[in-house]
Amino acid sequence: LTDTKMKTFEELESTVRSYSRSWPTIFTKAKGYKLWDIDDKEYIDFFAGAGALNYGHNDAAMQEKLIDYIRNDGIIHSLDMGTTPRQEFLQRFKEVILTPRELDYKVMFPGPTGTNTVESALKIARKVTERDTVISFTNAFHGMTIGSLSVTGNSFKRHGAGIPLHHTVSMPFDEYVEDQDSIRYLERFLEDSGSGVALPAAIILETVQGEGGINAARMEWLKKIENICRRWDILLIVDDVQAGCGRTGTFFSFEPAGIVPDIICLSKSIGGIGLPMAITLIRHEYDKWGPGEHNGTFRGNNLAFLAATEALTYWETDEFSIAIQEKASLLHNAIKTIIQKYPELGGEARGRGLMQGIAVENTDNLSGKICAEAFKRGLIVETSGPNDEVVKFLPPLIIDEAGLKKGLMILEESINHVLD
Ligand code: PMP
Repeated sequence: LTDTKMKTFEELESTVRSYSRSWPTIFTKAKGYKLWDIDDKEYIDFFAGAGALNYGHNDAAMQEKLIDYIRNDGIIHSLDMGTTPRQEFLQRFKEVILTPRELDYKVMFPGPTGTNTVESALKIARKVTERDTVISFTNAFHGMTIGSLSVTGNSFKRHGAGIPLHHTVSMPFDEYVEDQDSIRYLERFLEDSGSGVALPAAIILETVQGEGGINAARMEWLKKIENICRRWDILLIVDDVQAGCGRTGTFFSFEPAGIVPDIICLSKSIGGIGLPMAITLIRHEYDKWGPGEHNGTFRGNNLAFLAATEALTYWETDEFSIAIQEKASLLHNAIKTIIQKYPELGGEARGRGLMQGIAVENTDNLSGKICAEAFKRGLIVETSGPNDEVVKFLPPLIIDEAGLKKGLMILEESINHVLD
């Protein structure tokens, strides 16, 4: 693609666009873990639509279902009217996901995106507890609308909004460092509630912070946060928008911690094939919405429901989960090897499941250079973290070993080239 053509294309859009800057081409086609551009160049996808494509691009079974449905004049848009795809999704989600995990939630459709589910979670928590404050964590990312932004710990993203909600408090995320005991800090804060600090309605967290730099909370930390919530009657909201739907190896990211959140936010991959969809799971006793109290035009995308229902077949047995964990080990070992082989990176391995990254010593935009070089060599990989210091790997969960290895080979070649 010529620079002039690319420039013309870019000038049509607001300067807020971001990914087109990192990956300056026009993509035309995608299947599984691969993408192709206008020049027919092939790319391996280690980004998966920021976690929206856990089942890869154009899953054949989902594709079939959608094509068939449209051909038969199935209803596409239906607000929250009853439709077969909606009903089937609700039934199958209960059968395949909730019941086997002994979880019981009401399912709410809050609107099509991640930020919609977060907004609905914050609202219902404040309503049922009749409290105002929400506690979130440093480097958290919960979305770009005013409410979700107010619990997002990224000053660059927050400053443009201009309306930080004064009812939000940011606490240190699990730091692994003993002298920064975030649990003790939080407890001290809550113990002071008698002296005028209002008790919060909710604590919202990601078990693995995606945008914040692939910071994985320890299971003990999550358990302790749950205990704090129980002790002070605070609702625990787990934002599983990015870490959920199998990304960390189990359907919900918090499963290994043995915790039961009061509210769960899911979006991104819940729509199966990349279609906009979100759900908020609310414990029965907290589902205190009045009819229509939270609504939105796009809560009834039947194409998303169809793909979402088909995606649940991946979860009918343990096989998918086991395969993800095997590939996660392969990725983790490869990352460790790269870090040892290239000490100049000052690298640190981060994450769990197929949500991993390498934090690098980011002088001179090293992480950005690695990603740019990888793009030239046919690998789509992005950075995250407060200073973009983490090269982040989110391959589709369906990637095979060969694809993973090829992507890692391109990554290593890129690191080698950049450090040369
Ligand atoms: N929560 C988390 C954990 C996310 O990673 C994201 C998106 N990166 C969101 C919420 C917001 O989702 P959306 O962009 O669909 O609004």
